Amino acid sequence: MSVGDGKATRKKRPRILAITTDCCTGCAGSPACIEYCPIEACMFWVPDEDHPPFGRIEVDPYLCIGCQKCISKGPDGAFLDGCPWDAIEMIPTDDWEAMHEIALPDLPPPPPAIAG
Ligand code: SF4
Ligand code: SF4
Repeated sequence: MSVGDGKATRKKRPRILAITTDCCTGCAGSPACIEYCPIEACMFWVPDEDHPPFGRIEVDPYLCIGCQKCISKGPDGAFLDGCPWDAIEMIPTDDWEAMHEIALPDLPPPPPAIAG
């Protein structure tokens, strides 16, 4: 599995999306998963306000391309070198949309305009 360069962007709504589960520990502030993601800013740090400096990683569903490079479970039980703690799962994009009552677009939303 190749390591991502974090420079690509999404061109099409994926069939599956990555989500981090409650098993995500944040890897003590050095998330091993991020380096596998080819998409800039797709995996991001969310601080645990009650237990600083701990936190966890979340995946932006508007940016994820469903490439599965961040997960550790491959087809037929193969082991991939994504998250070593098995804290990332792939879910059908249709299910994510139904759960959140949001239709995800193909392309990421444009960055917010800078006032001034
Ligand atoms: S998803 Fe896995 S590799 Fe990434 S921060 Fe969480 S536990 Fe670590
Ligand atoms: S599946 Fe994982 S590695 Fe691929 S774009 Fe989504 S978060 Fe990044």
